[in-house]
Amino acid sequence: MIIKPLAEGKLLEFSFKDTIKLNNSYNLHDYDTQAEINGTLSKNGKIYVCEAEVVLEVIFNCDKCLKPTTKTLNFTLNEKFSNAEFITNNEDEEEINLFHDSQIDLTDYIKAGIFANMPMQVFCSESCKGLCPICGTDLNVDSCKCDNVVLNPKFEVLRSLFTDEEV
Ligand SMILES: [Zn+2]
Ligand SMILES: [Zn+2]
Repeated sequence: MIIKPLAEGKLLEFSFKDTIKLNNSYNLHDYDTQAEINGTLSKNGKIYVCEAEVVLEVIFNCDKCLKPTTKTLNFTLNEKFSNAEFITNNEDEEEINLFHDSQIDLTDYIKAGIFANMPMQVFCSESCKGLCPICGTDLNVDSCKCDNVVLNPKFEVLRSLFTDEEV
């Protein structure tokens, strides 16, 4: 995930695939994913501007039944970089990332993009029935005899609405 910086006024288009190691946090599985990165790097004075589209697959646990569920994430990276020697001259308040040895490593920015773009909820399917909150049975594959309908807060709200109308 390394880009050689370029001469003033040039626009570098890049397109590559790289492996991103994800660790087991934030409802993610611990595994390597292949990221596709397509973008441009341009030089604007002392600042290198990197804009890139990132596409990768991430395995989450279904929020209802916990089954491993693969989702495609697609997001844009927009980062500015500068050599260490210029960073003390940074007059405006923009966030400028440092790079050294004529190489920019995008790995950490892609990981940050994954966390910033994670879906609020992941379901293995629209119709996932989830686990029984009482006995833990996966209701997609089996049924149980528990009376768990009253535990669904949406139904509770509906029930109270109907009750109010009747009074
Ligand atoms: Zn599910
Ligand atoms: Zn049950």
